[in-house]
Amino acid sequence: MGFVGDKRDKVKLAALIVVVIGAVAGLVLSWTNSANSSSIDERPDSLYRCTRDECGYEWSMNNHEVRLAKGPSLDPRMDCPECKGVKAATLVKTCPYEDCGKTYLQTGEGVRICPECGQDIGEWYRGHSAK
Ligand SMILES: [Zn+2]
Ligand SMILES: [Zn+2]
Repeated sequence: MGFVGDKRDKVKLAALIVVVIGAVAGLVLSWTNSANSSSIDERPDSLYRCTRDECGYEWSMNNHEVRLAKGPSLDPRMDCPECKGVKAATLVKTCPYEDCGKTYLQTGEGVRICPECGQDIGEWYRGHSAK
């Protein structure tokens, strides 16, 4: 009888060890995963340019910094940190058409036509996302 009891205790102990190791491994795994995902989230920076002639300051911000500065607003304009002009800076976009590729200032919400070549930018994105 004593022998059987011993064996059961050992099985219980082994099961406990497996559970503890599993929990620790899961914790370490989720820890490293969250560290990785925060670095993956680094999307390309947005470029801003002040439209005041005497300033013309340019700077880039990543998406996180843009959210912090603007909140949920879709207004592409920003306060210029150089001349302190309120909403003096606007988002610089690059035309996706290969025969253009020029940069332009997004001065309002949902600008769809490239001011450089006059092509429909919304049309380009529709054509390239429908794969
Ligand atoms: Zn400025
Ligand atoms: Zn263009």
